[in-house]
Amino acid sequence: MNKERIVKVAVVGAGFVGSTTAYTLMLGGLVSELVLIDINKEKAEGEVMDMNHGMPFVRPVDIYIGDYRDCAGADIVIITAGANQKQGETRIDLVKKNTEIFKGIINQILKYNTDCILLVVTNPVDILTYVTYKLSGFPKNRVIGSGTVLDTSRFRYLIGQKVGVDPRNVHAYIIGEHGDTEVPTWSLANIAGIPMEKYCKNVDMCLGEPTRKEIFDNVKNAAYHIINKKGATYYAVALAVRRIVEAIVRNENSILTVSSLIEGQYGINDICISLPTLVNRQGIVNILDIPISDQELALLTKSASTLKEVADTLGL
Ligand code: NAD
Repeated sequence: MNKERIVKVAVVGAGFVGSTTAYTLMLGGLVSELVLIDINKEKAEGEVMDMNHGMPFVRPVDIYIGDYRDCAGADIVIITAGANQKQGETRIDLVKKNTEIFKGIINQILKYNTDCILLVVTNPVDILTYVTYKLSGFPKNRVIGSGTVLDTSRFRYLIGQKVGVDPRNVHAYIIGEHGDTEVPTWSLANIAGIPMEKYCKNVDMCLGEPTRKEIFDNVKNAAYHIINKKGATYYAVALAVRRIVEAIVRNENSILTVSSLIEGQYGINDICISLPTLVNRQGIVNILDIPISDQELALLTKSASTLKEVADTLGL
């Protein structure tokens, strides 16, 4: 990507997540060209019409439905296509279904674009980021999964609610799998540089083990709760994806818990998983070695090995 400004984004999959992501990007004024690609053309067409009818209220964006040919010239191709999580289904259950779908999608994208950043959102996102890395042959910096950016946001929001602080001033990360084995890094959580425990003591508040457990359970199981209530999750994930696009487009050097190929950090190898990562126009620049506790390291190792076991069954 050697252009001065990134302007074109393709979104593959115009379902709940893809169309909400496109809408969120439309509002953000970040991109000037946005193409939606879906096997269900009618659905994509309806979404595009609906968005375009709001154009006088936003900064101009050229939004249209397309096919894989329209990936040509895209700076970022966001993949949200695939089967979604059904009630009672884990993200890992989705793996085989969506790996097959991805074989077709990645093949098609590569015919028209080998220079873009591939941003994977479809679940199980870590495995499918790895699948995308393997199938595309792209350098590792240009294959990114939305990872635990959403979970980290949920974590910061719920801590903020509990302690009465703007979530933007809560610094805390969820690392590992975007899913059942994800890890809350409580040992590093802080507000304005004050460790969480000390902050809570200062304001005469207790954030003991039961409260921490309640917060983390609500982070980890958020998708299950929302899917039970309304069938799908899409607003917060769309904002998380927009945040990643923003970090790339604006060359921000932002630290985000995206998923990417890990080669050696924390003894993890050859799998995509989320760790705090510096993101800019090149995509992944640097995966940070954060000083997590021994207990968190053990959980992270377990999370990585769970993903590796699943990835190994795919014969990539
Ligand atoms: P959805 O069923 O509403 O949309 C999926 C879309 O993909 C459909 O419009 C379908 O027609 C399209 N599609 C299927 N196969 C295709 C193909 N081969 N080519 C092009 N389009 C194809 O599902 P959704 O609710 O939008 O969820 C999409 C994915 O995002 C799911 O895997 C879901 O689990 C995942 N998700 C991820 C996160 C995250 O944080 N990473 C959060 C929420 C949802």
